[in-house]
Amino acid sequence: MNLVLIGPPGSGKGTQASRVAQACAVPHISTGDILRRAVAGGSMLGDAVRDSMSRGELVSDEIITDLVAERLADLHATTGFVLDGFPRTIEQAYALDVLMEERGHLAVVELNVPDEELVRRLASRRTAEGRADDDEEVVRERLAVYHRSTLPVIEFYRMRRTLLSVNGDLPPEQVTERITLAVDPVFDKYFDRIAGPIE
Ligand code: AMP
Repeated sequence: MNLVLIGPPGSGKGTQASRVAQACAVPHISTGDILRRAVAGGSMLGDAVRDSMSRGELVSDEIITDLVAERLADLHATTGFVLDGFPRTIEQAYALDVLMEERGHLAVVELNVPDEELVRRLASRRTAEGRADDDEEVVRERLAVYHRSTLPVIEFYRMRRTLLSVNGDLPPEQVTERITLAVDPVFDKYFDRIAGPIE
């Protein structure tokens, strides 16, 4: 189970990634969480990413790719994972291709949530969690960055026919169920192909 979860800020991607990882007993790798911890801990990595994060901009492809490479290297090649927040640019998607060599199939799920619902959710998260990058202006920048840099990543996987689109505008339990269902047939197909074509 190698899964990438892609979704705009406020789509519930973090919550869903954590639930699916738990259900499938695989590690949840959230680049946003790793960076937030680094910032809070005042490490060198934290110092390097603090400013871009607080502006809602992406941190450099190099920093983030090294970070993901390090996490994946810690996992045995057959241990699956749920990646949350990576890849976010085409360059990162290419880097992930290299990291996936000899790691089997990659499933990519996109969470779809209408913009007005995202804005509503982010406003309530700002009140509930006090996340600095949930400030209104920063949220607008994060949504713009998503459209500019991450939508091309979705198109990249759509063209490869690895993309699964899931409606994220539903109660969280239903979204988890749909992701799990969406991912299952992908692996069935994959194993059929290994066993020999069924057509
Ligand atoms: P997230 O929690 O996934 O929304 O990430 C929070 C912030 O961390 C983003 O707004 C970026 O500044 C940074 N970040 C997380 N993942 C990446 C990534 N793959 N590439 C660049 N920046 C990232």
